Amino acid sequence: MTLNPRLAPFGTTIFAEMSALAVELGAVNLGQGFPDSDGPAEVLDAAVDAIRSGVNQYPPGPGMPVLRAAIAEHQRRFYGVDYDVDTEVLVTAGATEAIAGAMLGLLQPDDEVIVFEPMYDSYQACIALAGARAVPVTLRPPDYRPDVDRVRSLISPRTRAILVNSPHNPTGMLMNEAEQGAIAAIAAENDLIIISDEVYEHLVFDGLAHRSMAEYPGARERTLVISSGGKTFRTTGWKIGWVCGPAHLVAAARAAKQFLTYVNGAPFQPAIARGLGLSDEYFRGVAEELSARRDQLVPALRSVGFDVYPTQSTYFVTVDATPVAAGVDGREFCVRMAREAGVVAIPNVVFYSDENKGEGRSLVRFAFCKRPEVIAQACDRLQGWKP
Ligand code: PMP
Ligand code: GLN
Repeated sequence: MTLNPRLAPFGTTIFAEMSALAVELGAVNLGQGFPDSDGPAEVLDAAVDAIRSGVNQYPPGPGMPVLRAAIAEHQRRFYGVDYDVDTEVLVTAGATEAIAGAMLGLLQPDDEVIVFEPMYDSYQACIALAGARAVPVTLRPPDYRPDVDRVRSLISPRTRAILVNSPHNPTGMLMNEAEQGAIAAIAAENDLIIISDEVYEHLVFDGLAHRSMAEYPGARERTLVISSGGKTFRTTGWKIGWVCGPAHLVAAARAAKQFLTYVNGAPFQPAIARGLGLSDEYFRGVAEELSARRDQLVPALRSVGFDVYPTQSTYFVTVDATPVAAGVDGREFCVRMAREAGVVAIPNVVFYSDENKGEGRSLVRFAFCKRPEVIAQACDRLQGWKP
């Protein structure tokens, strides 16, 4: 066995696997969450201008000052939380590296991290790479509300952190203030770190709004807030992410980050800074457009026969495929749907811990961050399919 045993359980990420299948089959890709149209012209132009004006060498280790200032201003503007630009903000290679940096910088072998599952696939892998252990709290359909009493019951002397992801991938669940407040209180009572993945912060529908975990009493000084420009500005390939938090936690993430990538994406940093300064209207518009795409896809999924769970945020909607194909295994179902219907989605089973894979067996995630004509094509194909 050549591979580090800590990584062996995780195989190839499902996103690479399903996107490759979509390309091979010429299928409509509602799997991996990436938009199929470009973000705002101001942001794209700012990157081009940066390249043309020589912003092409290593940026400073913590990130370019213009971006760190824009991130701090964004946190103040939307959440009323202040961060010191020099010590409390760190630019990373996407939220993915922020998560890895936080885990590798903060966790010790045998530490426990409470995570809500289903969960974004890099969480488990990064916790395992750090030699720590993920302790799952399962979110259950149809609403996927977090059971905070369950969180409390799982705290042990080894618990070091709670990893929160709201707006939540893959379910689109948005935690409410009571739930976030309760989690903040549990963390404070037990002196735990909160790692809060807020990458879908602006993609929230139905008049709801995301609150940052750092806003709650006792949370500011123990929370690393993670986000990225990828979702908000439709620039997932730029990989500009960030971490905000108290200096000692940010320093730990930076200590790991400096040996992962050191720095990244010089010309994209001022461009994302430009995006973060766009008007409220821009941020509202992104959510409005996406919620219209959700409202286009969801009725079609229902008409095919799927049991569709409500989604209030993100790029995603989760369905149960059982009514369409009884006793189905989500992985096999997704491969069959790709081959027979020409539509790719993601089997949610990959987002569960080994011990709870059964919970996600028949569930499938569709992404609606696509152009209306692409969603319409997927709907036509699914409605014409006899599974
Ligand atoms: N967290 C969640 C919940 C995600 O869905 C994603 C997907 N991109 C990431 C983190 C990673 O973000 P980035 O592309 O900025 O690395
Ligand atoms: N976050 C996106 C998703 O959940 C894609 C992430 C990735 O490809 N690693 O689909």
